Amino acid sequence: MPGRPAVFLDRDDTLIANRSLSAMPGLRPGDLCDPSRVSLLPGAEEGCRLLHASGLVLVVVTNQGVVARGGGTLDEVRQTNDRLRELLADPGRPGASIIDAVYACPFHPEGSVPRFTGEHLWRKPMGGMIEAAAAELGIDLRASWMIGDSERDIEAAVDAGIPRDNTILLNERVPDMLAAALVVLAGRAARTERSTVTLTAERPGVFEDPRVRDTVIATANAIAERTGLKLVEVTLDASGVSATLEAPEVVAVGFGAELRRLTDAWHRGRFGTPLWPQRRDEEGRE
Ligand SMILES: [Mg+2]
Repeated sequence: MPGRPAVFLDRDDTLIANRSLSAMPGLRPGDLCDPSRVSLLPGAEEGCRLLHASGLVLVVVTNQGVVARGGGTLDEVRQTNDRLRELLADPGRPGASIIDAVYACPFHPEGSVPRFTGEHLWRKPMGGMIEAAAAELGIDLRASWMIGDSERDIEAAVDAGIPRDNTILLNERVPDMLAAALVVLAGRAARTERSTVTLTAERPGVFEDPRVRDTVIATANAIAERTGLKLVEVTLDASGVSATLEAPEVVAVGFGAELRRLTDAWHRGRFGTPLWPQRRDEEGRE
């Protein structure tokens, strides 16, 4: 029986902030096993929701050598991961998360807790966690993807049998989870389907300014180029922009979200005002 396709996700600095947090007393920078310190990175929620809505299984795989080093317990790691799942709740299933499973590796070769000290097949860059998830959840690794911010995430994926072309390292080109999700969905999109997304500006007439018009068109083309999505057409009128893609509707919506985010940031920087109406779920977050 062919398995289901999944997207494996690194946790720290892929889904949640880590490097940017100050180190806690007695812990190394990067040690995060306190649920109250979990905060999603920009684009993480939208990216995960887009992948989930496209029918992909989402599995987090995270090295937590902090347990071996005595900086946190397995239970604290579990609570921290539960907080992440809670932040990514599944609106269709009360109490459930769009993250299907989380695998954490507590081992580290330089630990102080004997039970967890040593190398382990689950520790990235080895592929053990991904292989275990594939066996337990019925995942087809040849049709699956990996998104991470570190080379060891990519190595673990390849070690487990995920094609290298299906690995995405976050960098300037693919800066966050939403951009990475678009790359995944571009790779899976059937080229026969076309969908259009339309964004309506905050103020009518804003696109009469050629600087705004040119920036929106250039940004749409740049997102398509970076993600591999086929952009068929971009049209602007006085009140908004429409982009047509060779992709299912859910992907077009994600493309629109990324276009909106990038051009809104540009407009605020340039003119001090938003380009697009703010959605209710963004109030207080920006
Ligand atoms: Mg990471």
